Amino acid sequence: MRTIIEPFRIKSVEPIKMTTREERLVYLENAHYNLFSLDSENVLIDLLTDSGTSSMSANQWAAIMKGDESYAGSPSFHRFEKAVQHLMPFSHIIPTHQGRAAEKILFSAIGGPGKYILNNTHFDTTHANIEYSGAIGVDLVIEEGKNPQSEHPFKGNMDIEKLEAFIKEKGAENIPLCMITITNNSGGGQPVSMDNIKQTKYICMKYGIPLFIDACRFAENAYFIKMREPGFENQSIESIVQEIFSYADGCTMSAKKDALVNIGGWLAMNNDDWALTCRNLLILTEGFPTYGGLAGRDLDAIATGLEEVVHEDYLHYRIISTQYLGDHLTKAGIPIMRPVGGHAVYIDARAMLPHIQPLQYPGQSLACEMYLHAGIRACEIGTVMFGLQADGVTELPASMDLVRLAIPRRVYTQSHIDYVIEALVEINENKNSLKGMKINWQPKQLRHFSARFSHIDSDEIRKKTIID
Ligand SMILES: *Cc1c(COP(=O)(O)O)cnc(C)c1O
Repeated sequence: MRTIIEPFRIKSVEPIKMTTREERLVYLENAHYNLFSLDSENVLIDLLTDSGTSSMSANQWAAIMKGDESYAGSPSFHRFEKAVQHLMPFSHIIPTHQGRAAEKILFSAIGGPGKYILNNTHFDTTHANIEYSGAIGVDLVIEEGKNPQSEHPFKGNMDIEKLEAFIKEKGAENIPLCMITITNNSGGGQPVSMDNIKQTKYICMKYGIPLFIDACRFAENAYFIKMREPGFENQSIESIVQEIFSYADGCTMSAKKDALVNIGGWLAMNNDDWALTCRNLLILTEGFPTYGGLAGRDLDAIATGLEEVVHEDYLHYRIISTQYLGDHLTKAGIPIMRPVGGHAVYIDARAMLPHIQPLQYPGQSLACEMYLHAGIRACEIGTVMFGLQADGVTELPASMDLVRLAIPRRVYTQSHIDYVIEALVEINENKNSLKGMKINWQPKQLRHFSARFSHIDSDEIRKKTIID
């Protein structure tokens, strides 16, 4: 059979509130054209993020009922620890309330001024936590990973030559840790090959530098290895995952991604001294080491989620349905970042809307139109997010103006995705009518969360809608 079906059926449903374009115009105006300010109940298809938005299975909800809320030594912790160690066999597993808490603790313990932390591409919270400790985060992804049109199968790979050159230049004594992010979220959800992880480990070992994996999408990465890397086609996902982590000395994890839960994370490592320091910091900000920042029931939901996320049927559906969306947009002539990554499709709004200057935010204009036209919420990743410089005044175009369609895990069906495709095809047919935008108010930092926008010619847009 060629038709790929969702490998689950639906036992519990959540109604979507249907809205008209006129209603959505009112909601969007009240939100000052900032999609983060919308009430989510007024969104039909929410593709803002894949983080913490997964549907849990019947087995996970059942596991929640078994959660033991003892302060210390809960059996929920032991089930969690066993499930993590089955895939990631590190000696110390330290639960946290989410990924960034694991990062904060790790870099408080080993970061600091004068130090460098290397990665293929640091995720933004990772980068921010490294800099907060006084250390410097360095990105060393391969050149193909920076080119949106390159079809390289493992665009998340570390540039091994640059890695070694950097270590030689700055001195291994100033590099307490090297990381590798799988899949490379900031680079478009692109996978890293097993061979590249092995080579990264080899260089790290040569210079005595521990290697940690930012493991958020480890299962999606393992599936790409199975599909694309010669020699892995007949291996189970579990054994690929186990091999990946056999090359690492520890990991940070956001359970809101590939543990199929709505909150949680962990920090894991083999180094006993580091673990002692990290557990002491954990007690200050998260909680006792057998619950971290979580409830016992959350630990049980993670344990079950980790069993489910390595099922090949699930991963096949997950990766193929993201690819299906990307391939249909490509076929319709809508420019996207290629090849499609694991968790999201990124539309190149600057290429799609060449009549809108980068400083008039083509990504924001497209994201707003997706909401007005079809109630779809996506996320601008471009000049709105990155254009404002550190002085809080100067503005420069970001390197790209993208709109990210992040796909929540096990939430939407094929017909939801077909609806998204149809909406984008219709928008693309009328793309010349889309207008640039301006910012009427913004904070000095992280403006994308709260800035207020309007269309450059918003009266005209409004009239057109009413005539429609
Ligand atoms: C989401 C994410 C994090 C941070 O995790 P949170 O749970 O959101 O704090 C770190 N690294 C990567 C690659 C991520 O995708």
